[in-house]
Amino acid sequence: MPETPTTEPDTFIPKIVSTPLRSGHGMKIGLFAGIHGDEEAGTLATQELIRWAAEEPEALHDYELHFYPVCNPTGLALGTRHSHSGLDLNREFWRGSTEPEIIYLEGELRREHYDGIVSLHSDDTSDGCYGFVRGALLSEHLLEPALQASIEFLPRNEAPVIDGFPASRGIIKEGYLGILSAPPEQRPHALEIVFETPALAPMDAQVKATVAAVKRILAEYRELQAYAANL
Ligand SMILES: [Zn+2]
Repeated sequence: MPETPTTEPDTFIPKIVSTPLRSGHGMKIGLFAGIHGDEEAGTLATQELIRWAAEEPEALHDYELHFYPVCNPTGLALGTRHSHSGLDLNREFWRGSTEPEIIYLEGELRREHYDGIVSLHSDDTSDGCYGFVRGALLSEHLLEPALQASIEFLPRNEAPVIDGFPASRGIIKEGYLGILSAPPEQRPHALEIVFETPALAPMDAQVKATVAAVKRILAEYRELQAYAANL
C-alpha cells in the first residue's frame, strides 16, 4: 500500500518523571524547556538534568521532578521559535488556546498542581544570563543564587533594561502575558522562575550555566521550604 503523506505534524510532548524516595513526599517541580523551538540550550540542559536525576537519586530524594525537555516539538523540528502553526506558544497560556501543545500543557499544569515551575529559555539579544521571577523573597533567595551559580560559565546581563523590562542585576520582576505558568486559580500559587541564557554564546557554556542554575534553584528552594516550615 502506498504511504499517504501525513498532514498532521507530530505534537507529542515528552515527559520524564523523577520520583522522591518516599512516594508522595516530595516537593513537586515542573521543569519546562523548548517552548521556543529554536532555543536548544534548555532542552540539552534538561536532558543532562534527567541523567543527573537518574544517576544521583539521593541528591533529589525529597523532590518529585517532572521534566518536559521539548514543549514545542514542531518548532524544534523546524528550527523556529514559533510552532508549525506560526504561533509563539509562550503567549498562549490560560487564554482559551486550542493549540494541541497548549491544551496538553495546560492539562498537565492543572492536574499536577506544581509547587514550582522552572522555565528555560535563551535570548539572542542578550549578552548574559538573566531571569524573571515574582516577588522580593524569591528573587533574593532563588534567582540571585541561580545567577551566581551560572556565572562560572557565562556572565550576567547587568543592563538596566532587558527585553524591554526594567532589570536589576539580571532580575526582572515583570513579565509577558500568556506565558507558561500555573493555572490562574491555583492556590497557593506556584513559585515560577524563568531562566535565560544568551543564545549566541557557545552552546556548551549555555547548557552548563543552565544546569548549574537549576541545581542551585533546587538547593535553595529546599532551604526556603525548611525555613518556612520552622516559622
Ligand atoms: Zn524563549
